[in-house]
Amino acid sequence: MFIRIRSYCLSGIQAIPVSVEVDSSFGLPGFSLVGLPDNAVRESRERVVAAVRTSGYSVTGRRTTVNLSPADLRKEGSALDLPLAIGMLLANEEFKVINPSRYVFLGELSLDGLLKPIRGTLSIAMALIHKKDTILVIPQENVEEASLIEGLKILGVSSLLETINQLKMRESSKLIVSRGISYKQERSFNKNLDFKSIVGMEGVKRALEIAASGNHNFLLVGSPGSGKTLCAKSIASILPEMSDSEIIESTQIHSCIKNLSAKQYSFILERPFRSPHHSSSMVSLVGGGHKLLPGEVSLAHNGVLFLDELPEFRREVLEALREPMEDGEVQISRASGSIVWPARFMMGAAMNPCPCGFSMDVKKECTCLPDMKQRYWLKVSGPLLDRIDLQIRVPSMDISKLKANSGVESSAEVRERVKKARIFQQKRFKESPKLFNAEMNSLEAKAACQMDKKTEDFVLGAAEKMLLSARAYYRVLKVARTIADLRESEVVSPIDLAEALQYRMLK
Ligand SMILES: [Zn+2]
Repeated sequence: MFIRIRSYCLSGIQAIPVSVEVDSSFGLPGFSLVGLPDNAVRESRERVVAAVRTSGYSVTGRRTTVNLSPADLRKEGSALDLPLAIGMLLANEEFKVINPSRYVFLGELSLDGLLKPIRGTLSIAMALIHKKDTILVIPQENVEEASLIEGLKILGVSSLLETINQLKMRESSKLIVSRGISYKQERSFNKNLDFKSIVGMEGVKRALEIAASGNHNFLLVGSPGSGKTLCAKSIASILPEMSDSEIIESTQIHSCIKNLSAKQYSFILERPFRSPHHSSSMVSLVGGGHKLLPGEVSLAHNGVLFLDELPEFRREVLEALREPMEDGEVQISRASGSIVWPARFMMGAAMNPCPCGFSMDVKKECTCLPDMKQRYWLKVSGPLLDRIDLQIRVPSMDISKLKANSGVESSAEVRERVKKARIFQQKRFKESPKLFNAEMNSLEAKAACQMDKKTEDFVLGAAEKMLLSARAYYRVLKVARTIADLRESEVVSPIDLAEALQYRMLK
């Protein structure tokens, strides 16, 4: 008998429909599996046969052919165990189901017939969002994650035997319709990192506010202990709350790594702030590996990727960041096909001004030789520095100012301004997929900064004196545009431009 079972495979965060076609006939017993399966799928036959036997059924003794279609998509992972088992049982006429095509099956089987959770449930639930007649049959532990999406019919099961028994019923007793989750009240911020706790760094905080408003990349340069890392981490507290679609998108990426219902993972309600160690490999930062998993740049999607001790990162790792910084996504190509992971993030970085760290310090003397300093700066490549809009000098914290705590703004107050500035700039991007000033190209930057002749002469003159490259010049315009947006002004004034020029200390 021939049977077709519906299932899904993941490609990045996209869920792609897969049919498991099983044909079973009398004849010399045998089993063949075709349709570009990877090793985990290839091994599934052994798991399925054992799981079926321990559930009190049998699928051996016949000639079975299984085809996974579409044939050109590589099928990965063990989530196809359950559709395969159900397909083989139905093809062997071990039991009957009314209208099997209304079910989508996913789940990994263990030898004793129990179901283990799978990765990427949220993406699969998203794919079924408009298929209201479909019933999603998944391991019980994945039900919570799938329920994030409203209006899905979900059947959570914990073993193969339970699945069979539920399917035999006219109306499955465990079938639920998901309600969706409202995140409104759950959105939160890390209260330990508030602008209020950073005293006497008004200039740095102002620069971070601009960075947050226009999604500009930033670099903090200062002596050891000056508080660079603390300042960078606190930027998360002034970024606006995530929208519902951003929450889903970020959560989808995490869900592709591990089942989210497991306790250590929860839904991503706070904007991601990823701070990978400087010894990180290329794969852990950009993604890939034999499972083609997302890297830190994708985990930082919709949030901040912070690289502390920037020159300590390996050069090829930093070079690999250029593509996601430009395109907002990472494409990983392998012989088996390519996968695209979203990676739209704000990059933050921090570094000392020289190897000893004190060349900018007023109290301590720098002990570095000139060529040591030069080699140190060479580690951070020119093209990467070029892509950093705001280069900020962090002064050493003044102990006397630490006591004065009054009149300091809290992150919540700054966040309101950032939100307004973002709304103001997004009016300009109504007809473009871009969201932020940082994403503008040079033409758009020029058009967005309508300058009169006098102002333009002033900026060009300053840029010439500072030996700015053409790319750096347009970065200045973008930052100036954001500064004007913070005032909710259509016009970019000379003062805005002068301030933007200040943030090019490294050119
Ligand atoms: Zn030094």
